[in-house]
Amino acid sequence: MTDPQGLGRSPRFAQIASFARLPQSQDLSAAKGVFLGIPWDDATSFRSGAREGPSAIRNNSRLVRSYNMFAKVYPFRVLNIVDWGDIDPVPGFLEDTFQRIEAGLTPIFKAGVVPFVAGGDHSITLPILRAQKAATGKSVSLLHFDAHFDTWEAYWQTKRYTHGTWVKRAYEEGLLTKGNVFQVGIRSPLYDAQDVPNNAAIVHRTYTTEDVDANGYAPIMDQVVSEIRDDPVYVSLDIDVLDPAFAPGTGTPEPGGLSSRELIHFLRELYRLSVVGFDVVEVAPQYDHMGQVTALTAANALFEGMSAVARRRSTSR
Ligand code: MN
Ligand code: MN
Repeated sequence: MTDPQGLGRSPRFAQIASFARLPQSQDLSAAKGVFLGIPWDDATSFRSGAREGPSAIRNNSRLVRSYNMFAKVYPFRVLNIVDWGDIDPVPGFLEDTFQRIEAGLTPIFKAGVVPFVAGGDHSITLPILRAQKAATGKSVSLLHFDAHFDTWEAYWQTKRYTHGTWVKRAYEEGLLTKGNVFQVGIRSPLYDAQDVPNNAAIVHRTYTTEDVDANGYAPIMDQVVSEIRDDPVYVSLDIDVLDPAFAPGTGTPEPGGLSSRELIHFLRELYRLSVVGFDVVEVAPQYDHMGQVTALTAANALFEGMSAVARRRSTSR
């Protein structure tokens, strides 16, 4: 049973910063969840810097504590979460890095352990989904929080593997269940009017920020839950779904996003879904000029994801 080390004894700013100061281990025999980092940002299209995301999230996660009173759960204890460490990328070499990510994640999915991943730019989700399929032989539903579609065909005319193309690639590769791809928080300006129908050909439901304003999180999550039901679902959280006022530390910020509180409300509903993997990507702390608020929020988003999975496991259903 894991818990933050030295809680109550050692000040939260002391000691080596594993995620929430959980034990560091790659032993999957007892864990039901692991935290891991993927410090990679060579597939970004605007401001790079997400390679510093995992270390900044770990640093700020030291403030996270053991008990979630809203989920009524001790997520670290229920899931026996450890800090697995980082996947070593090969800076500048996307194919090699994707292979390392897939190779690193496959045994985790195979063991039925839920990975909680800190990116890294959003391209990392593609090899994570490849690992999921390789381990289980099955596609997954996708719940995708983002300001951007990420369903574009290519960047720089011919480059098909970037942080803005991974949803389309994952769909084409059969990693995602048809009709079970959902997006929340979309709002960015587009390259072309045709981007909207192109996205709709892949994504079953796209909830823009206007939809969030009109409905609030509860009916949106009701609909998502009623359609995904008990299918395994992967949750991918691009931190730029938040307004830059709440999360300036990211590569492609878009005004008019969710507040941190709105996002946490969405995440607290995830216990109603069968979440098999969760990532928080695009945290670039170099632009996080306000007391590392983006990395701190990402750490808390991971805590909420862990809490939701733990709540579902600890409640008889
Ligand atoms: Mn984005
Ligand atoms: Mn994205």
